[in-house]
Amino acid sequence: MEIVILAVVIAVVALGAISGLVVSSRRKKQLPPPPPTTPSVTAPPAEPQVGEDAETPRDEERRTIEEVGLPDSGATLVEEAPVTEPEAPAAPPIEVPEPTAGRLVRLRARLSRSQNSLGKGLLTLLSREHLDEDTWEEIEDTLLTADVGVQPTQELVERLRERVRVLGTRTPDELRALLREELLTLIGTEADRFVNTANGLGPNGEEIPGVVMVVGVNGTGKTTTTGKLARVLVADGKSVVLGAADTFRAAAVDQLQTWGDRVGARTVRGPEEGDPASVAFDSVKEGISEGADVVLIDTAGRLHTKTGLMDELGKVKRVVEKHGPVGEVLLVLDATTGQNGLVQARVFAEVVDITGVVLTKLDGTAKGGIIVAVQRELGVPVKLVGLGEGADDLAPFEPEAFVDALIGD
Ligand code: GDP
Repeated sequence: MEIVILAVVIAVVALGAISGLVVSSRRKKQLPPPPPTTPSVTAPPAEPQVGEDAETPRDEERRTIEEVGLPDSGATLVEEAPVTEPEAPAAPPIEVPEPTAGRLVRLRARLSRSQNSLGKGLLTLLSREHLDEDTWEEIEDTLLTADVGVQPTQELVERLRERVRVLGTRTPDELRALLREELLTLIGTEADRFVNTANGLGPNGEEIPGVVMVVGVNGTGKTTTTGKLARVLVADGKSVVLGAADTFRAAAVDQLQTWGDRVGARTVRGPEEGDPASVAFDSVKEGISEGADVVLIDTAGRLHTKTGLMDELGKVKRVVEKHGPVGEVLLVLDATTGQNGLVQARVFAEVVDITGVVLTKLDGTAKGGIIVAVQRELGVPVKLVGLGEGADDLAPFEPEAFVDALIGD
């Protein structure tokens, strides 16, 4: 860095000499502050005045240039002066995850295979020449079997009945369009499905990384999802710190670290069976000191006593909030568990404010209707779906792509 600074100084000195100005080659630390009368040509009004004691290389250059007295042109010079880049970390063999855009479309074949019986089943039934009561009952059964839930099923069947009646004769294309529209209405296209990873503000108004807590019962795919989500964020250009707060399962901690190592994300771990809240706290602390964009915290999911879970998760969140807000609490649910998943969702929602749902193992079940049921149950959107065990088999949930996979083009 010194060489670069020296180079800048020499360049400036040369410039100053050419223009006949007095120069000084003293280092920054010995420099007096710029005279108050100096017009602030070097800094646009928006330049922050805070943090003056923590000078950056750019400050150092600016001060040196000010010192040599370059007039108005100094402002331009400062802006264009070469800035010493922070030292690039040595590149370990880190994987580059594939971009997340269009992932659901890529995984569509997998989705449509598993959801075949729902979408295609409905279309076949609706295409029957006579839509008698038995057929409507079959339609209802198809939706219930796919875990759409009683209330949403009744609503959908009612709307379909009404619209089919209005339509009169039905071509396959018309039916498909109608079903697509109604399924989309049921799932909802308005909800904000972005995982909130925006920076928060600390107690003193300072920026802290976005904090995401991942909760769910063991076995749902919580740790895998946390790892996959780290990849999604890294693919989107963010730096991530992982908090292995599931301290009761050594395997989970190692598993998470492996995920982190693969994409160059540090994993904060604690002693085995240590306090999960303290690991969570430390991971955000690490995120802050690293200047990371996001901290992902994997939590324990032992559901043996609700009170224990409540105490633990509540504490994790409260302790993390000493640093600043938790931007997102993602509940991981296994799509293959059907109604049981809904019971879990209810319990977790009582313990912490869930802000989004990740539905895993959607590749292995035809019960995609759980998306509708769980959104109704919790009043929060499904934000991500797991479509396989592969590292990049986690996709942002896009209702349109999902419904298209359901009923085919
Ligand atoms: P945890 O106990 O909730 O942390 O669960 P794990 O993350 O250890 O995952 C349990 C199992 O589910 C692992 O074998 C994962 O590979 C598997 N799994 C996770 N997500 C998916 C998914 O979307 N599809 C499939 N097929 N398997 C998944």
